[in-house]
Amino acid sequence: MRLVILGGPGAGKGTQGRMLCENLGIPWIATGEIFRAAIESDTELGRQAAPYVEKGDLVPDPITIELIRHRLTQPDTENGWLLDGYPRTAFQAEELDFLLGDLGQELNWAIWLDAPVPVLMQRSLDRSRDDDAPEIIRRRIDLFHQRTIPITGYYKPRNKLLRIDGDRPSEVIQQDLLDKLAATQA
Ligand code: AMP
Repeated sequence: MRLVILGGPGAGKGTQGRMLCENLGIPWIATGEIFRAAIESDTELGRQAAPYVEKGDLVPDPITIELIRHRLTQPDTENGWLLDGYPRTAFQAEELDFLLGDLGQELNWAIWLDAPVPVLMQRSLDRSRDDDAPEIIRRRIDLFHQRTIPITGYYKPRNKLLRIDGDRPSEVIQQDLLDKLAATQA
């Protein structure tokens, strides 16, 4: 299964995405994690991404799109994948479709893990990462509304959007997700 998971910072994308990947036996591909790991090991990609990641800004498209193109041509992606953190803009969503067209693949679902802003804010504050200072969190939530929410308008008319209430205990959300995905496969 080929999936994208959308949600603001603190929506639970990482938790739900990882659980789903384990349950479905597909790789979890998280652009934010890839950037953070690259910054930590001070690779060329890390040096390019660092100024943006540190401010909570989007890493420029040419860097991010190339990263995804490279990752989705690795052998472990043959039976599916879940993308967490990509696409983040409607432009990236279109780019993903172009890339999938080149690869002869199709996206099954864009899962939208929907949670209210105060929940996003609180959950982000509860986990302490370098890029999770309050003003950075605010910036990432604003960016989510400006740039990522419009993606739902890209997937909805294509019948690819699966909205999930993200303001529930994580096991409940995961079960709901598994049930809905199974129902759509039937
Ligand atoms: P995340 O862990 O998904 O919140 O991502 C952390 C940071 O990585 C973001 O604040 C951005 O700076 C960068 N990033 C992750 N995914 C993307 C993307 N698709 N496009 C641009 N920047 C990204």
